[in-house]
Amino acid sequence: MAPYVTRFAPSPTGYLHLGHAFAALYAADLAERSGGRFLVRIEDTDRTRARGEFEAAIFEDMAWLGLTWEEPVRRQSAHFDDYARALETLRGFGCAYPCFCTRKEIEAEFAASVNAPHGPDGPIYPGTCRGLSDLEKTGRIERGDQHAWRLDVAKAVTLLGAPLSFEELGGGPAGETGAIAVNADLFGDFVLARKDAPASYHLSVVVDDALQGVTLVTRGNDLFAAAHVHRLLQALLKLPVPLYSHHRLILDASGKRLAKRDQATTLRHLRADGWTPARVREVLGLTSR
Ligand code: GLU
Repeated sequence: MAPYVTRFAPSPTGYLHLGHAFAALYAADLAERSGGRFLVRIEDTDRTRARGEFEAAIFEDMAWLGLTWEEPVRRQSAHFDDYARALETLRGFGCAYPCFCTRKEIEAEFAASVNAPHGPDGPIYPGTCRGLSDLEKTGRIERGDQHAWRLDVAKAVTLLGAPLSFEELGGGPAGETGAIAVNADLFGDFVLARKDAPASYHLSVVVDDALQGVTLVTRGNDLFAAAHVHRLLQALLKLPVPLYSHHRLILDASGKRLAKRDQATTLRHLRADGWTPARVREVLGLTSR
């Protein structure tokens, strides 16, 4: 086994629960067993929801689990320049366009179309702003109209020319393993930078994994589909390509994925209830170290 550089990338918008514990231990175990490195990244681009108190709790809970990680931890809010540069590169290629649509307008378009195609995150953006003239785009930006930036996926695919694939080690939602052919259209013209945040999840994750030197991206298989467009961004931005291992999700008694509102499975609650880190591992079906 090659020494893997893995990472755990929580958002500080709530307390860690058993699902996070599984994700963190899964990444740390793969790093440790391969003689590699385990990194942490705080995904706090959403400044309205991120809280310092949750970030402190993340570190406390991780230490309680017995994890150690490299310092300094990368905090996305400290690196907005990196994402702006990546966006600039994509704009330079002519494959990013400003989107002035409001959420309401997009929803109205979905409602009006009978067969709106759906992606993993819901209906696919119909491309309303893709065809705006350069004059209109610059005019509206100069006027101060609020806008997001989207990838023109068709242009990006043409620019790249060759089909892409990524290597899945762990099995996606349907047990996919091996070389996975990229479906660049999966999310349509997805958002690169939001009106209220300078980088989307897709853009920031791709930039960060490259800058942090992550060689094996591990995360829940609810994010398997995202790897398709992450691979597309890596090719456009000429970034190194990590391996992927998407893992199973931890479900509650009714078979639903654990959510931040499920207080009963937060690590601090379980700890107060007398749980030990060894019990957490056992319940999660992870072998002890
Ligand atoms: N921040 C994401 C989450 O909490 C994880 C992103 C990733 O691992 O790529 O689900």
